[in-house]
Amino acid sequence: AVALRLIAAGVVYPNGTRALHSTSLDFAEGAFTVLLGPSGAGKSTLLRSLNGLVPLSEGHVETSRLGVVRGTRGWREHRRSTGMVFQQHQLIGRLTAFANVLTGRLGHHSTLRSLLPLSPAEKHLALDALERVGLLEFALRRADQLSGGQQQRVGIARALAQAPNLILADEPVASLDPATSERVLALLHDICRQDGLSAIVSLHQVDLARQFADRIIGIGGGRVVFDGPPKDLDEAA
Ligand code: ADP
Ligand code: ADP
Repeated sequence: AVALRLIAAGVVYPNGTRALHSTSLDFAEGAFTVLLGPSGAGKSTLLRSLNGLVPLSEGHVETSRLGVVRGTRGWREHRRSTGMVFQQHQLIGRLTAFANVLTGRLGHHSTLRSLLPLSPAEKHLALDALERVGLLEFALRRADQLSGGQQQRVGIARALAQAPNLILADEPVASLDPATSERVLALLHDICRQDGLSAIVSLHQVDLARQFADRIIGIGGGRVVFDGPPKDLDEAA
C-alpha cells in the first residue's frame, strides 16, 4: 500500500529560486527510502514539503489516511502522525532528555491546559521512546550534557513519542562522525523495521544509502535523477 504520495509537486521559494521541479512520487508503506544527493540538490525542500514545513507552489501531498492534505487542519492532522528528525536535532540544551522527548507531544494538544497535567500514558510513551534508543539511564540528563550521537538518539526518541506512522529525517547524521553516523542510522532503520514504519531519510553519503535503503531516490538540481533499489545504483554508476 502507498503511505504517502507526492502529486505533480513543485516548490519556488519567495526569492524566485525553483528548488523542486514538478515531481510525482509514491512512498510505499513500511519502506525505508533514502533521498540521496549533494548539498543544494533539493533534498531538504522535498522532505519538508512532505509535511508542509515548506509550502508547495504546485501540486499536492496525499496520504492513505487523509487523502489530499489541505487546510490548516489537514496539515496539523498530517504532522501529528509524522515524526520529524532534524540535522541539528533541535533539542533544548538546558532541558533534560525526557523533557525534550515530551516536546514531541506538543502537537497532540490543542490547548495549554490539556498539556499541563501530562497523563501517565504520555510519560510512558516518552520513557518507552528513550528506552528504545538506549537512553533510559540518561532520561534526566540535560541534553547539552549528551554526546552528538546521544543527542540525535534523543531526536529520534522525540519523533517516536509522537506514535507516528511516518518518519521524515532531514540529514539526520550529517553532523556526526562516520562510525556514529552508521550506528545512529542502523538504530533508526531497526526501529522502523520493527514497527513497520515508513521512513524517508535524506543523506549525502552514498555508502550509507546503499547500506540501509530499500529504495534510493537520487536528487539533483531539484529533480529526481535516479529511483530504484541500491543494486540498480551500482549498475547506473
Ligand atoms: P539540500 O537539502 O539537498 O541541500 P535544499 O533543499 O536545502 O537542498 O536547497 C535546494 C535549493 O534551494 C538550493 O539552491 C538552496 O540554496 C535553495 N533554497 C533552500 N532554501 C531556500 C530558501 N528558504 N529560500 C531560497 N532558496 C532556498
Ligand atoms: P541544509 O544544508 O540543511 O539544506 P542550508 O545551510 O542550505 O541547510 O540552509 C539553512 C537554512 O537556510 C534553511 O532554512 C534553508 O531553507 C535556508 N536557505 C538555504 N539556501 C537559501 C537561499 N539561497 N536563500 C534563502 N534561504 C536559504
